[in-house]
Amino acid sequence: MKKFSIAMLSMVLAGSMLLTGCGGSKTADSSSDAQDSTTSTSADGGTLRMGTNATFPPYEFVGDDGNVQGIDVDIAAAIADKLGMKLEVTDMEFDSLIPALQSDTVDVALAGMTVTPDRQENVDFSDSYAKGVQVIIVKDGSDIASPDDLEGKNIGVQTGTTGDIYCTGDYGQEHVKQFNNGPLAVAALVNDQIDCVVIDQEPAKNYVAANSGLKILDTAYADEDYAIAIKKGNTELLDKVNGALKELEGDGTLQSIVDKYISADSAAQ
Ligand code: GLN
Repeated sequence: MKKFSIAMLSMVLAGSMLLTGCGGSKTADSSSDAQDSTTSTSADGGTLRMGTNATFPPYEFVGDDGNVQGIDVDIAAAIADKLGMKLEVTDMEFDSLIPALQSDTVDVALAGMTVTPDRQENVDFSDSYAKGVQVIIVKDGSDIASPDDLEGKNIGVQTGTTGDIYCTGDYGQEHVKQFNNGPLAVAALVNDQIDCVVIDQEPAKNYVAANSGLKILDTAYADEDYAIAIKKGNTELLDKVNGALKELEGDGTLQSIVDKYISADSAAQ
């Protein structure tokens, strides 16, 4: 599995990029403005426009070659393939994804996105394709040993994620520091600006592997389901996506995509 490197982080910080193409062979154009470049086409059977936030390895990240890749990109490519469509990937902030669906800027959002009742009021979700777990990252030697110790601590989260929503609800806004992406939250932890980061498990493993002196606590904060978000009411696309997902699950494609990025070893951690 690819590690989330400093080079990748600087690409993330360089801003939004529009990536187009099929399957894993995407070309990046870092000079494009993601929002402006994708408003003119619709899912007319030709192009499936996916929105994501490529700071979330191994689900989505900018690879060494500058292309967005990962589990979600491969799943979307496999779905597009089943539907006879071309896949177009647009990288944006995580909390821009639902507005992008609502404004028809993208057709699907795959971003390790957790199904929540609030989000279900704004978008429709496909059947779930993966389990997510919110975990706590701390520095070695931290006095935080479990979720019970979070009271009164300064918690870093990625803006608009379930980690943000749960921690704000549980500990109050004043204890939650929002960052635009996970790597920025982790950098703040490394620099002692916060006491911990609450974030999804698989990206957490990547961030911890890329920074010495960090660890993930054994006790998880929350269990969740990841699904594909689609504009509310677009049942035609929802049905197609669910049909494709079912086939990909049945023929083992889904599992082989996950296995390509998450080793059995690392999944057991
Ligand atoms: N699973 C979390 C959520 O849906 C985080 C997703 C992400 O940061 N890409 O809020």
